[in-house]
Amino acid sequence: MPAKWTGNLLTWYRRHRRDLPWRRTKDPYAIWVSEIMLQQTTVEAVIPYYERFLKRFPTVKALAAGSEEDVLKLWSGLGYYSRARNLHKAAGMICRGELYVRPNHVRANTRFAPTLPDTVEGLMKLPGIGRYTAGAIASIAFGKKAPIVDGNVIRVLSRLYAITEDPKASAGQKVFWKKAEEVLPEKSVGDFNQALMELGAMVCAPENPACRICPVSSSCEARRGGRLEDFPKGKKKIEYRDVRMTAAVVLKDGKVLLVKRPGKGLLKGMWEIPMGEGGHMPPLSKDWSLKVVRPLKAVKHSVLNRRLTITPFVCEMHGTGEFPQPHIWINPNNINDLPTSSMNRKILDAYLGSSGVVTVG
Ligand code: SF4
Repeated sequence: MPAKWTGNLLTWYRRHRRDLPWRRTKDPYAIWVSEIMLQQTTVEAVIPYYERFLKRFPTVKALAAGSEEDVLKLWSGLGYYSRARNLHKAAGMICRGELYVRPNHVRANTRFAPTLPDTVEGLMKLPGIGRYTAGAIASIAFGKKAPIVDGNVIRVLSRLYAITEDPKASAGQKVFWKKAEEVLPEKSVGDFNQALMELGAMVCAPENPACRICPVSSSCEARRGGRLEDFPKGKKKIEYRDVRMTAAVVLKDGKVLLVKRPGKGLLKGMWEIPMGEGGHMPPLSKDWSLKVVRPLKAVKHSVLNRRLTITPFVCEMHGTGEFPQPHIWINPNNINDLPTSSMNRKILDAYLGSSGVVTVG
């Protein structure tokens, strides 16, 4: 049975919610794109990416028809690139009808419009869609009574109900999913789920929650008991590792060398400035070497739990024969034409800033 505070929460949400582009649509595809982009990324960072992405790929069909390189290019700077690859792969699966279950009354050769599955189970068959994302799409786009549990929802529910289980443990996860299901109203489930997340993002903050303006404060057990800091349980600080790196901004005729990242990692296939670990210059090959021309201002960048300090050097490259890695020479102002990470843009900014040329936008 839904809790008595749900009505207050919905009223508050409808009055005070932020006007975000993905809240102006019920298109399942657009909502899917927004949910994938919002994983691990802030709302402010996502908005311009979301708008550009939907302009270039307005439908699931358009996305499936695009190349992975095109998709990565639009994702460049947003990080966690496996999200983009999975989105593209899933669009292909939808358009090839791999998830389509033909009802008995529909003839085998009937054409169908490619669309997302409308159930949590169906959505979770797509790569990159876990239980949270499936619940969000099913409830927001299709109005299904599906719960969601993310960091914001955990914080709000743990405080409202003084839940003592550790949300990182599997037993704790079960408790939160069960509670998130129990509190769902019969109607407006999509709005309700978004309201819970909005409350966590805007009012029930990790530190110093704004209880005085909270629409559900009269039902909040943590507030009643004066134990806000006890919830959620098991809060753990991220332990960062400091890593030093060296980048070679190799120049030829005003253009900069980028190499294609091999292997299977998160950044596979992206274009990047050659980098070395510690104080070492990047290894190129036995026939090619680098000559340092001048150092540039150090660049700071964080990836997962690694805090990178990158020292870039303007370099010349000398060698014979064919350069062994897949590579490209680009005008540094055209970096946005290639799939590359924001770290590479920062390094090129350091170079462009130092040479008095216009900075990349
Ligand atoms: Fe969070 Fe305070 Fe509202 Fe409780 S009363 S849900 S702690 S903001």
